[in-house]
Order: sequence, then C-alpha cells, then structure tokens
Amino acid sequence: MNVYDSEKLAGILTAYGYEKTENMDEADLVLCNTCSIRHKAEEKAFSFLGRFAREKKKRPHLITIMAGCVAQQEGKKAFKRLPHLDLVLGTQAFARLGAHLDDLAAGKRKIVDTAESEVIFEAMPDTTGSNESEISKFVTIMQGCENFCTYCVVPYVRGREKSRDPKAIVQEIEILARSGIKEVTLLGQNVNSYGGQDSDIGFPQLLELISQIEGIRRIRFATSHPKDLSPDLIRVMQDLDKVCAHLHLPVQSGSDKILKKMNRGYTRQTYLSRVSALKEACPDMALSTDIIVGFPSETHEDFMETMDLLDRVEFDSIFAFAYSDRSSAPAAKFPNQVDEKVKMERLNQLFAHQDICTEKKNKATIGRDLDVLVEGESLKPREGFVENYPDMNQMFGRSESNKIVHFPSDQAKIGDLVKIRIENAYPHSLWGQVVES
Ligand code: SAH
Ligand code: SF4
Repeated sequence: MNVYDSEKLAGILTAYGYEKTENMDEADLVLCNTCSIRHKAEEKAFSFLGRFAREKKKRPHLITIMAGCVAQQEGKKAFKRLPHLDLVLGTQAFARLGAHLDDLAAGKRKIVDTAESEVIFEAMPDTTGSNESEISKFVTIMQGCENFCTYCVVPYVRGREKSRDPKAIVQEIEILARSGIKEVTLLGQNVNSYGGQDSDIGFPQLLELISQIEGIRRIRFATSHPKDLSPDLIRVMQDLDKVCAHLHLPVQSGSDKILKKMNRGYTRQTYLSRVSALKEACPDMALSTDIIVGFPSETHEDFMETMDLLDRVEFDSIFAFAYSDRSSAPAAKFPNQVDEKVKMERLNQLFAHQDICTEKKNKATIGRDLDVLVEGESLKPREGFVENYPDMNQMFGRSESNKIVHFPSDQAKIGDLVKIRIENAYPHSLWGQVVES
C-alpha cells in the first residue's frame, strides 16, 4: 500500500517539476513515506530523516518532508526529534501535497497537515506510469480500517474505512491496461469488505467488473479479512479465470483466547471452515497468512495452537511478526506482556516449521504445468545455465499462486503468459521448461 502511495506522491512531485535522483547528496527535496505498524519501522523513519539535519546546515534550501502513518501519529510532535523538518504530511493529506509545495516555495516552513479528508487519494498523476518492463501495478480500492484489532495502529493513523467509486477504479485500470499493464493488485486494509455505504456494489461484483477489462490478464488483491470471506467471494474466485488462485488471509493466531483478545471477530474453527470451503471450491488455491507471536498473555499452549493451525491449513507462505507495542493501540495496556526473548524464540520456531511446509508445497508442483506471467530475465542465471542453454536466456515470472518460476527460453517476452512444466523446486523458487502448445 505504501508503494502505491509513494508512487502517487512521486507523481505530484514530478508534476511540480522535481525529478528523481539516485544520489541523495544532489536532492533538493527529500520525502520519506513512513510506516508505523511496528516500532522498528517507526524508528527507521526517524533515523532516515534524522540524517538530513546536518545536510540542511550545508544546504539550507533542502526541503525535508515526513509523510504517512508516523507523520499522522506524531503531528507537530515530530519536530521535537526532527526540528529540521519542513512538512509533516498525514495520511489523509496526501492530496494536498501540491498546495503545501506552493507554500514551501513561498518560504513557509514547519507545516503540519494531519487533517481528515473526505477525498480518497485517487486519480493523482502517476508518472512512474508504465514502461516496457513493467507489467504489474497496484491499485488502491479503499482506505482506512474500522476493525480495531487491539494491537493495530491502522485505524488511528489511516482513519475511517472509505471505498473508492467503482467507476473510478475501472477507469484507472482501463488506462493501465491501455498502457500495457497485464496484472493489477487491488489494495486495501480489508478489501473484501469493499463497498459498505460508499458503493452500491460489493467486492465480488467489483472483481467481475475488473475482469471484463480487455488487456488485464490477472487480478490479485490484498488484504482479505477472514470474517468477510463470503460464499459470494469464494464463488467469484472459482468462476473468474483472471482472478489468481491465491488468497492472503491473515489469521494472526491459532488460539481462540488470543483471537478474542485481539478482537479479530472470528474463531479458529470459523477460520478453518472458511479455508475448507475455499479449498473445496478451488482445490489449487494457494494460501498465505500473517501471524503475530507473543501477543500479551500468549502462553506456550496458545503458541502451539498457532503451530497446529499451520499444519492444518498448509499455507504456501507466511509473514510472521513479534508483537510490537504501539502506544495508541489498546493492547499496549494489556497485562502479561511476553518477554522479547520468548517472542524471538517463538518466531524462529514458527519460521522453521513453515519452511518445511513451503518446501513440501513447492515440491508438490513438480511435474505440473503452471501458467507463468513473464516478468523479465533472471538477474542471476543458475549454475551451468550458459553451458546447458547457450542460445537461450534464463527468464522468470510468477505463477498464479505467486511462486517465482525460472525457465530457459529464446522467445518469451515480458508480459507473455507461458505454460511451464515444473522440473525442480527450491525453497524460494521453481524451475521448469516451456510447454510447447
Ligand atoms: N489489514 C490487514 C493487515 C494490516 S498490517 C489485516 O487485518 O490482516 C499487516 C500485518 O502487520 C498484520 O496482519 C499483523 O500481522 C502485523 N501487525 C500489525 N500490528 C502489529 C503489531 N502491533 N505488532 C506486530 N505485528 C503487527
Ligand atoms: Fe489493523 Fe485489524 Fe484493520 Fe488489519 S483489520 S488494519 S490488523 S485493525
């Protein structure tokens, strides 16, 4: 989501005459789009921007901007740690960046804009546009979140859940398709609750509309909330060829006690039954998830329930995090905080357990034919490639299940959809040969 927002912010800067530079010492303006989901991300933002205090002494015209979630959370407090900041731009103020650039040009400094906005950050110029090597783009379909999971800052820094107008979404994707984009990933904190009061259609219907856009060959989306995984969405995922057979469905914990304290709105059993319904409808569906270990009061038994859930679902991949205290989220005040060392042990145990499953899932693809959307030439061909395939390039792309697939070819071009018979599986990628049609 932040990548998408950063592209849009870069688009506004370009419209105001700025150009991207690879050399930070040359920059006239530095904008850092920040994330506050965990303590480490927040600290990274402060330390990155902190570096420019000295630089500004040498080059006073240098403009420094903190944008995004940390900016929203801190407001004018950001100046305490970073007195050299010129603009603090909250999450709902992105659309006003242009006006603030005008004020900065007129000499105004120490601007704070964390005001709410009814306008969704959409239809902004996006100068990253598409070039020949780009085939995939993110498209935000909604913003904010009202689920108030007790560990999470998002509802406080991203505001109320708002869905974009479906017509505007379709129009944006039609433009992307005309410029050569083949795959879109629809973004939102909770995409499967898209619609609500803001749109007369829901998420399954939105997928149906996007699926009709000529030129778009694949549709992905993230993130989906288990409580909103409806039979209607499962049906659409089964019926629409362009919707990839991959669902990212964060479970967070396998223990009912912890799920309740997290305010997730589902039980372990509900999660497992929804996954079963999904697998029954779409047997090839790849699943990934997010997990938090060491949430306040998580015991060894609770953690083992999470491990057990991994075995039951057999995820293709997981993202797992040690619980990080966020002062604006209620869980920061919960009793029985878990020791950092225990959190790290559990995290490592979880990753080791999942690695076995990921490898098993990857190996299960050997001998199968997978549709692969070609993304380019592999950066590092595998050992012996040049000797074995002197007249070919090693290309790579992604399967519907989001696995990286490498293969030799002298014809495949970026953006082609090719069938690859898988011959070998590794922890992070697959290897195969083009199946001639
Ligand atoms: N809206 C999505 C994800 C939002 S944030 C959802 O509900 O699933 C991405 C992930 O960061 C979350 O799924 C969660 O696993 C993790 N996360 C959020 N807050 C966290 C915290 N305080 N500590 C550790 N991980 C956290
Ligand atoms: Fe955070 Fe929960 Fe909303 Fe996801 S659903 S953004 S974890 S509050």
